[in-house]
Amino acid sequence: MLPWVVRRTRLPLLSLRCVDCRSESATTGEGRFRVNANGKLLDVWLLVRCVFCDRTSKLTVHERAPVGSFDPTELERYHDNDPELVASTLLDPLLARRNRFTLDWKGAWRLDASSEWLDEAWPVRVEVVFEDPVPVRPERLIAQGLGLSRNEVLRRIKCDISLRRSTSSGFTFTVMAGD
Ligand SMILES: [Zn+2]
Repeated sequence: MLPWVVRRTRLPLLSLRCVDCRSESATTGEGRFRVNANGKLLDVWLLVRCVFCDRTSKLTVHERAPVGSFDPTELERYHDNDPELVASTLLDPLLARRNRFTLDWKGAWRLDASSEWLDEAWPVRVEVVFEDPVPVRPERLIAQGLGLSRNEVLRRIKCDISLRRSTSSGFTFTVMAGD
């Protein structure tokens, strides 16, 4: 079985409407949190800015959460703008749902496809692993990875999941010999 890996090359942009210029693209930039204490309650926001006019907005990560509910190392990571925490916060589907944005993955990921398959005997099995939750349409990913047309993909690929429906969970497929 040949391994293929889908991984991000940078953080995705956010499709989020700017209240000033009405454009729909925002970025976390380097990634910054803001933590605000109000008595024993904490608010934590992730700051993003409009790609076009630089207006900053705050995405709610925690709202009026008791200080005691935070692990001290977690709090420290918010204060330090820990890049891993920025990434996992941004990619958490809950944040997107709560703050009403979608992730724009265009140009923010790559496929590392093994090319050894050329020397293998047919049929070839490939396992696709997702290091990051990039939504991809299997038929496009496979066409890109194998350098095949989409028609050829539909003819030569056997797969247990729908090739047309976007997924970001791992799957395997089999490439049958060409004519
Ligand atoms: Zn703007």
